[in-house]
Amino acid sequence: MTETRYVFITGGVVSGLGKGVVTASIGKLFQFRGYSVDAIKIDPYLNVDPGTLNPIEHGEVFVCEKVWDFEPAPGYIFHIAEIDQDFGTYERFLDKEMHPSNNITSGQIYLSVILRERIGRYLGKTIQVIPHITDEIKRRIRGVAERNKPDILLVEVGGTVGDIEAMPFLEAIRQFRLEEGIRRTALVHVTLVPLLETIGQLKTKPTQHSVKTLQSLGLQPDVIVGRAVSELPEDIKRKISLFCSVPLEAVVSDPDVEVVYELPLIFEKQGLGEYLCKLLDLGRERTLGESYDKWRRLMDLYRNPRGRIVVGMPGKYVMITDSYISINEALRHAGAFNGVKVEIKYLDTERFEKDPSYMEEVLESVDGILLTPGFGSRGVEGMIMTAEYAIKKNKPFLGICFGAQLLFVAFSRVVMGLKKANTTEVDPNTPHPVVDLLPEQKVVKLKGGTMRLGAHPIYIRKGTRLYEAYNKPIIYERFRHRYHIMPEYALKAGKHGLTISATDKSGRIINAIEIENKYWIVGVQFHPEFKSRPNRPSPIYKMFIQKIINFKTRFKNDPKC
Ligand code: GLN
Repeated sequence: MTETRYVFITGGVVSGLGKGVVTASIGKLFQFRGYSVDAIKIDPYLNVDPGTLNPIEHGEVFVCEKVWDFEPAPGYIFHIAEIDQDFGTYERFLDKEMHPSNNITSGQIYLSVILRERIGRYLGKTIQVIPHITDEIKRRIRGVAERNKPDILLVEVGGTVGDIEAMPFLEAIRQFRLEEGIRRTALVHVTLVPLLETIGQLKTKPTQHSVKTLQSLGLQPDVIVGRAVSELPEDIKRKISLFCSVPLEAVVSDPDVEVVYELPLIFEKQGLGEYLCKLLDLGRERTLGESYDKWRRLMDLYRNPRGRIVVGMPGKYVMITDSYISINEALRHAGAFNGVKVEIKYLDTERFEKDPSYMEEVLESVDGILLTPGFGSRGVEGMIMTAEYAIKKNKPFLGICFGAQLLFVAFSRVVMGLKKANTTEVDPNTPHPVVDLLPEQKVVKLKGGTMRLGAHPIYIRKGTRLYEAYNKPIIYERFRHRYHIMPEYALKAGKHGLTISATDKSGRIINAIEIENKYWIVGVQFHPEFKSRPNRPSPIYKMFIQKIINFKTRFKNDPKC
């Protein structure tokens, strides 16, 4: 047993309650008091990692700084750097790099147990959910505590209590709490308290039912966080307290907020930090420290923008905005530090293909364009049309990963005259494969965890827009790709006004491009959004927003631009 205290977070009634934000905010309450915090997310699905999931179904895939060599059994290695989007929330709130092994999936648990059975680790035994699967779950949770020795380890359980898939995890948590003993663990249950508009009342019955389900599994929550459109009134808190057997002070409101980073302050105001410390026997010696004041000052920045800009985000996963959550947040951070509120217009590029005049009209109305990451061919022509528009109309533009590759396709078509230029991801038979597989990817057959992943060094050329943003010759940013801009074509493009602004050490992998004689058109092969923090915006996003503001206010009517 370690000295670490554990806070488990479960969800009730519906998914999509923002449990990740609640988990991260609870972590922040401990950080405010000077405790070290780490976080685990349990995903009950059978995928080994979320890397192969469609963002429309699952939201963004977050990419870690490091790639983890996951060895479920001796002789079997899988590379994992793609993890659940909640880790983006944890990194942003806790200002901490998360390790991929902190994302535990059912796929990993079952794979470990089954492969070990095959190599004879359990000879003579019947392999069962209890104890083999539950033991493996507990081993993984304790492994994080032992490796990182945080004062507090948050463990968020994905999905909703009552889901069949989550049962072994909840059972493992029940055993874990028993083994650790009292005052070592806390259980926070996040539930929906819906508003019935016709009668104007908040309803507690769904919460009561989901707590009953938890109780039937041997788990009594210590704290109930009620997600509702507004603060929970006293009588509603009392009702939840009575029916769910939780002290009144442990029923906490989680209302809608405009800026998610406010939530730790809302929890703090309700006494949740102190309550959890008491519950976990952490004593009263640690009080709110400097990080609390810093966070409060930071929120002032987010609350009081002096202006507003609109960024158009054309893409193929725009039907759910969670697909681009790290980008959304990076734009918000960059906006706050430039004193503006960034409004994002999500634009479906399939519609652009059907109706180019709609595209012209809508892109004309935005102040800048961010061309999004993506995979596959649906909606891609519309993305290329967007980049062509930006080049022709000289619109401030940032292309991220796929967005940068498609900027290069557009440049090849409209400036270099290679009308059928394309990426081989979309058209394997293009006569001008200006974007093609990375050399090492040509032999890769398996799909899971096989892209170029994690952080790599990036060498920036002095005098470029990219250098202006980072002000450093070498940076580290995170990657997730199989394809890249072909150096042969990029060199030719140099004669037509394209600059290669960054490469890898060898110079063979192009990491960023920009277009000369245009106001600010930049494409980056990496994903800078993953490292943007509310208190430390990504340099390139910050510069993008700054340039949009300058363009809007100063250069709008300048014929040279
Ligand atoms: N599909 C492209 C590739 O694999 C871009 C990936 C991305 O945008 N993350 O290279």
